[in-house]
Formats: sequence, structure tokens, C-alpha cells
Amino acid sequence: MLKIKNTGAKIVVNDFAEHEITYAFHDIDGTHSLIREWPPVMSICLFDVIQNGLSDDFDSEENEKRLINLAGKEPHPETDRFCVESAGLSALTQMEWAIRRAVEDGKISVDCDKEKNSEIIKRIWNGEEQFDGFGEKKEMLDMLTEKTPRLFKLYEKVLNGYCRDKNLADAIKNPDKYRVGGSMEFMKFLHGNGVKNYFVTGAVVEKGMGMWEEVVGLGYPIGKGEIAEDIIGSTWTEKLPKEVIMKHLREKLGIDGKNILVVGDGRAEILAGAEMGAVTVSRLPESAKEQRALHKKLGTNIIVEDYNNEEFKKLFSK
Ligand SMILES: [Mg+2]
Repeated sequence: MLKIKNTGAKIVVNDFAEHEITYAFHDIDGTHSLIREWPPVMSICLFDVIQNGLSDDFDSEENEKRLINLAGKEPHPETDRFCVESAGLSALTQMEWAIRRAVEDGKISVDCDKEKNSEIIKRIWNGEEQFDGFGEKKEMLDMLTEKTPRLFKLYEKVLNGYCRDKNLADAIKNPDKYRVGGSMEFMKFLHGNGVKNYFVTGAVVEKGMGMWEEVVGLGYPIGKGEIAEDIIGSTWTEKLPKEVIMKHLREKLGIDGKNILVVGDGRAEILAGAEMGAVTVSRLPESAKEQRALHKKLGTNIIVEDYNNEEFKKLFSK
């Protein structure tokens, strides 16, 4: 049985008792995979919505090409910061935020309660994702239901055209280049010690496509008894916060939070892990000072730049 305990190393930022680990839930993007350079793409897509609203044909091929050309070219302070701070939320929530900002600025006209809209914008900044109890007007809700998934699909197409497709092709040849340092060894170490690894992502998962292709392309086999047991994701139309995905998975597997290791780089998975009593590991570069401070505040136990860290390896014992 694999155990993890606090050795007093500097990488431990919030104390934890000794836990037996039988399951591990891993985020993918930024945590194990570097294929998706998503922040500049999301930033330009959201910035463009706030600036220009949404035309009837905003998801046209022409607009897709325009956004691919604009991605990463200029700084956009509000949306750049939003992308950093909202990492780990469902992409649908991130899209919804920009549409609500455009409504707030009058770039999208819709019958709505402006105060409620502004309040929800603030709450998304704080990591909240579900706003069912707000009693918003039907026209506003209908508009969000129609536009948000369309914007999400546009964003994925821009992402594919900007970096994902060429990085995936390269990753199949040079997987090491697109894996976070020590990721494969760490996954194998867990698997070899009887831990069942699950990938949990805010992206849409369809077998053989999208994120599935990326995980397999990086060299992690998916299936019963494999390095990764399964990969659980979101859908195009229904917001599935990490907290909800992990709760469902935990219930389905019938396991206690204290026997789970949660590994991620976004606020959502770390907060969900901390709330279910798991030991949490944040994978964040040394330079990501603000995110490191945020994760510590959210209750993460361990922060490492990558999995080659010797102090990190020493936390585990058999
Ligand atoms: Mg991530």
C-alpha cells in the first residue's frame, strides 16, 4: 500500500496527516500535458467577445481564421488575467463570463437584470460556476444556452488551428517535449504501486478524439489496468465543474476522499480535492507566484514545479 506523509520539506505548504493512497485524480492540461497552449487563445476569444459582442455568424470559418491570426499577438490585461485566475473552471463557465461581460458593457443587447449579471461576473472571478438560484430572465438564459456552446466550439477550433494540431503531431514523435518533467515516471510509479490513476478534465472527452488523442499521443495508455484507468471530461453543452465530476467519480468508485491524491494546476481541482479531504499536489512553475499563493490559500498540501523534485519523491513510502 502506498503512503504519503509530510516530511517537513519546503514543498509542503499546508500540513497533512499520513494517508494511504489508492486512487489519484489528475488534471491534464498544464499538469501533465503541454500540448494545449490555451491561455493566449482563450484570452483573444474572450477579449473579442467583450470588444465586439457576438454577431449572428460569430463562429464562421472566417472569424476562426481571424482569431487564430490574432492569438498571442498583443497583451489584453483583463482577459489575460482572467485566464490565469480561472484555470481549472469549465471552459463553458469561462465562455459564459465573456458573454456576460459583453452584456455588462452593452455589446450584447438582451433583456436581463444587470445587477444579477454583474454579481455573477464577480462570482465567476471567485471560482463559482453554478447560478441556478439567481432567477434570471428567460431571454438571458436562452441567449446563454444558445451562444455559450457555440463560443466554446469556436474557441476549440481556434485552439486547434493555433497550436494544438501541430503540437499533437509533434508530441506523437517527441512525447517528452510535451510532458511535464517526470510526469511519465510519476504515473508509472503510482500505477506500479497499485494506485488507480484517473484523468479528469474540463475539456470534452470523446473516445479517440480531442483530449483522448492527446493523452494517448503523449504515451499514456487508457483502459482498465493501464497507467490511466479512464479519462473523464465535460460535454459541449452542460457545465460540469471539476468538483462535480470528482464527486460523481468518487461515488461511483465508492472511495473515501482521504485515500485520493489530487494533482492539478487549476484552482477548481485543488479546491475540490481539499474539500473532499484528499492530499493535493499543485503543479506550478516557480515563476507563478500569484497562483502559488492562491493554491496555498485554497488548501493545497504540496506545490512542485515538476515531478522530478527529489523532496517530492521522498514524501511517498510503501
Ligand atoms: Mg490544467
